[in-house]
Amino acid sequence: MEFSERTIKIIIDDEKCKGCSTHACVEACKTYSRGILVLKEDGNPGVVDSAEELARKGTECLACEYECWFRGNKAITIKAPIEGLDEYRKKHGTA
Ligand code: SF4
Repeated sequence: MEFSERTIKIIIDDEKCKGCSTHACVEACKTYSRGILVLKEDGNPGVVDSAEELARKGTECLACEYECWFRGNKAITIKAPIEGLDEYRKKHGTA
């Protein structure tokens, strides 16, 4: 599953969540952000808010990804586009 906040996209590989015993992502979201990531009835993390609410409530703190990588099953990838980065890298030969 995937969802967006204001500028970032959170991608969760549900297959990797099967068998996860910590659900560290949900705890991290509740502790460090506004709890937009919740545990669904099927045992996987997910969101219940509308796209507009997610964009408004999300703090883009990245805590879910960090906690999942250290205490979960490395299921979360966050894409955080940086405006102008491609041009900058081309200009400095690091593209
Ligand atoms: S911590 Fe990672 S593996 Fe565990 S439920 Fe959350 S996203 Fe899935």
